[in-house]
Amino acid sequence: MSSFTDAARHIPGGVNSPVRAFRAVGGEPIFIERAGGALIHDEHGRSYIDYVGSWGPMILGHAHPEVIRTVQERAALGLSFGAPTRIETQLARKIGELMPSIELVRMVSSGTEATMSAIRLARGYTGRDKIVKFAGCYHGHSDSLLVKAGSGALTFGVPTSPGVPKELAAQTLTLAYNDAAEVKQVFDAVGGQIACIIVEPVAGNMNCVPPAPGFLETLRSVCDQHGSVLIFDEVMTGFRVALGGAQALYGIKPDLTTLGKIVGGGMPVGAFGGRRDIMEQIAPLGPVYQAGTLSGNPVAMAAGLKTLELIGEPDFHTRLAQTTTQLVEGLAEAARDAGVAFSTNHVCGMFGLFFTERAPRSFTEVMASDADRFRRFFHAMLREGVYLAPSAFEAGFVSIAHTQEHIAETVRAAQAALQCMNT
Ligand code: PLP
Repeated sequence: MSSFTDAARHIPGGVNSPVRAFRAVGGEPIFIERAGGALIHDEHGRSYIDYVGSWGPMILGHAHPEVIRTVQERAALGLSFGAPTRIETQLARKIGELMPSIELVRMVSSGTEATMSAIRLARGYTGRDKIVKFAGCYHGHSDSLLVKAGSGALTFGVPTSPGVPKELAAQTLTLAYNDAAEVKQVFDAVGGQIACIIVEPVAGNMNCVPPAPGFLETLRSVCDQHGSVLIFDEVMTGFRVALGGAQALYGIKPDLTTLGKIVGGGMPVGAFGGRRDIMEQIAPLGPVYQAGTLSGNPVAMAAGLKTLELIGEPDFHTRLAQTTTQLVEGLAEAARDAGVAFSTNHVCGMFGLFFTERAPRSFTEVMASDADRFRRFFHAMLREGVYLAPSAFEAGFVSIAHTQEHIAETVRAAQAALQCMNT
C-alpha cells in the first residue's frame, strides 16, 4: 500500500492541507522523508530541487544548521509553559525593528489566526462590520475571509466555502485586485461602513501578481479618507520581498500587518501588529478578545528569531532577487526555444509561471492562463527532479540555498519538460 493510500484511511483526502493532495495536477503526492538546503528527499530516496519551501517559510533553505541547533537547544529547556518568556519580547522587538509600522505585536500560531484576529480588531476598533478583500487573495480559512478566496479554495473551485454563514459572507465585499477605480467607487458609496481593507500587497495565492503602480497608494488614501483600517497581509511577503516586507519595498505604511511563514522559520507562528492605538484595543489592554494556549511558544520563537537574524545579513535579499531573476529568465528562454507561450512575474524571492503570452496583472487574466499545460509541465518537471507547487494558482519560492547549479539544473529540466510537452 502506498503511503498516500494509507494516509487516506485516516486523514481526509490523505492530507492535512488540501493543495498537498495533488488534486489540481493529478497523481499521488510525494511523501517527504527529509530536506536540506534547496533539496527535498522523498521516502523512496529521490531528490528534488524544491521551489515550494514549505509554502514560503524556508527562505534560508531547509534545515539550516544554525536554526536547527537553536531549536534543539531551546527545546531542551522545555516545550511550552503558558507563561511569558523573554524570547517572545526579543522576537517582538526584532519584528518592530524590521517593520517600523509595527509598534505593538501579538504572537499567534498561524497566518489564519493572525488575519482572523486582525479583522476582529479592525471591526472592534472602528465599530463597523463590513470588510473589503480582493478576489483571488487568500488570507487563511476564517469565515469572513473565505469568500472568493485564492490558494486551495480557488484550486478546488470553492472560493466561498459551504459552512460560511450567508449573513457573515454578506459583510465581506470582494473587489478586483489592481482595480483602483472600483475601490474608490465602493468607498464613495459605503466607505463609512467599512472597517478595513485586507490585501496581499503582492498577490501570491492566485499565482504571483504584483501590485499595479498606484494601487496600494489608493488603498492607503481611501482608508485615510474614510477612517478604515488598512491591513497588509504580509504572511507571504513579509521578510521575503524585502527585509522590511512589501511595505518597505513599496513605501506604504499600513495600520496593521499580519505575518506568518518566515516569522516562524518553519515552526507554527503567526503574528499581527501595527499602530499602538489600534493594538491597545486587544485584551488585556482593551475589550477585543484574542488568546492562545501555544501563542508565543518558546521553541517556535527561537526558530523565528534566528531566521530573522540570519536574513538580515547584508545583501541577503539582493542575492535572493538575483537568483529568482536568473531562474525566471532561464525558464522563459527555455519556453521561447520550445515555442511555448509562457510568461513570468517575480518580486525578489517569489515568482509566478504562466502559460500565457503576457504576464497576468489581474485575477481574470490569471484565470485565463492554461492550467492544463501547467499540469503537464508540473509532472514533467517532477520527473526531472524539480518540485513546483502542485497548482497553477500558487506562487513559487526561492531560498538563499538555491545556487547557480540548482538554477542551471532547473532550466535544463524545463528544456526537457517543455520538449516532451510539445510532442
Ligand atoms: N495569508 C496569506 C497571504 C497566506 O499566503 C496564507 C497561507 O498561505 C495565510 C494568510 C494563512 O496562513 P496559514 O496557512 O499559516 O494559516
